[in-house]
Amino acid sequence: MSAEPVAPAGGTLIVGSTGFIGRFVAEASLDSGRSTFVLVRSGPASPTKAHAIASLKEKGAIVIPGSITDGEFMEKVLKEHEIEVVISAVGGESILDQLALIHAIKTVGTVKRFLPSEFGHDIDRADPVEPGLTMYKQKRQVRRAIEGAGIPYTYICCNSIAAWPYHDDTHPADVLPPLDCFHIYGDGSVKAYFVAGTDIGKFTIKCNDDDRTINKSVHFQPQSNLLNMNQLASLWEKKLGRTLPRVTVTEDDLLVAAKEMLIPESIVASLTHDIFIKGCQINYTLDRDTDVEVTSLYPEASFRTIEECFNDFIDKVVDSPVVVAKKVDSPVVVIGEPGGDDNIVMPNPGAKALAITATCA
Ligand code: NDP
Repeated sequence: MSAEPVAPAGGTLIVGSTGFIGRFVAEASLDSGRSTFVLVRSGPASPTKAHAIASLKEKGAIVIPGSITDGEFMEKVLKEHEIEVVISAVGGESILDQLALIHAIKTVGTVKRFLPSEFGHDIDRADPVEPGLTMYKQKRQVRRAIEGAGIPYTYICCNSIAAWPYHDDTHPADVLPPLDCFHIYGDGSVKAYFVAGTDIGKFTIKCNDDDRTINKSVHFQPQSNLLNMNQLASLWEKKLGRTLPRVTVTEDDLLVAAKEMLIPESIVASLTHDIFIKGCQINYTLDRDTDVEVTSLYPEASFRTIEECFNDFIDKVVDSPVVVAKKVDSPVVVIGEPGGDDNIVMPNPGAKALAITATCA
């Protein structure tokens, strides 16, 4: 296998850099020293979004206001800034917005690589129940449009983010693991890959200018980060220094939560079902010509372990005693500085019970 990839001379454009996954990718791009442009939708910005933009600017990002739905504008951006790599991390509700971007990339014809908003499972293999399936169908539609347009691509299949896998939260790494009780899906024995957000960013950037990943799906399968929920719970208990009760969330509980069609919570419930009941991250082999595995590509590079990520959460429990937002009926409280970028969300003991027919183990 060839050596380290070389950064492109042209610009890298990141779409969705103020979002959960996009922020990790943008920061890794800036850390790698390449010329990084971030497309930011205009309109009223929340304090968190404004802070994210300011922080990326400070690190050297060039901010371009606009939306990928404006095809003509995107063509102008790609040409004027000589963009060679486009990475999209738009959220689940904006997946089809990428069709206009694909059209612009095809028209301009100078982009050497496009990474669409994937950052999860191999959506051509996994088959979740609704409403996750609709999102997967949209992601598949985007894949087919890229392939049909002949645009060189890389699909990042990074599996789960390293955090407690709450079945109703799209951004679990922003939430502390449980402090009162674990909800374990099924018998808790089905394994999944838990990858730190910083590693999702780091390895996405490594892949995007590596010839070995052209027109491939890159699977993130670090064996050190392959755990089931029982193991995850025991590890967190070790960090906390105490044991917590375990509650079983059955397959039916997850299917009921998916059927409620609350967006985005039901999407997360359907994907949680796919991961921890059906085993969608581990029930296939990498036997297609288009498959590559990230630890085989970069055997010398290390992944943060889930233990290290849990250490970060423990530091937040200890260091952030100030509650800045708390709703009585919310299942979470936010701790940290008012408007702070590093604020963390933790379970609110005063909140009403989750609407699942769970039974204590
Ligand atoms: P977020 O909702 O957190 O962020 C989406 C970003 O995209 C925001 O910056 C948003 O801007 C921007 N955006 C949306 N539409 C447009 C547009 N038309 N033009 C320009 N910018 C736009 O997304 P996530 O990080 O949650 O999701 C990104 C991807 O990662 C998805 O494919 C998702 O499925 C996946 N994912 C994977 C996870 C995992 O554990 N593996 C966890 C979470 C997500 P604005 O601020 O203006 O809205």
